[in-house]
Amino acid sequence: MLKFILLILLAVGGWYFWRRLSAPRTPARAPQERLPERMVACAWCGVNVPEGDALRSGERNYCCAEHRNAAENKSGD
Ligand SMILES: [Zn+2]
Repeated sequence: MLKFILLILLAVGGWYFWRRLSAPRTPARAPQERLPERMVACAWCGVNVPEGDALRSGERNYCCAEHRNAAENKSGD
């Protein structure tokens, strides 16, 4: 009798496990708003910075104010 119960438990457990494995998985969709941020190169040193962190000056992007100032001072006069 004990063997019979164990067999049923095994069958139920196996069926449950198999169902879990073969269940259609809903693909974890990446939220559309979490797009990777575009990288822009600093016009002075060339380092890549996220567009949101870059300092814009005209059409050029800079990684920091220092480089923006340096570029403007060099080409300004
Ligand atoms: Zn820079």
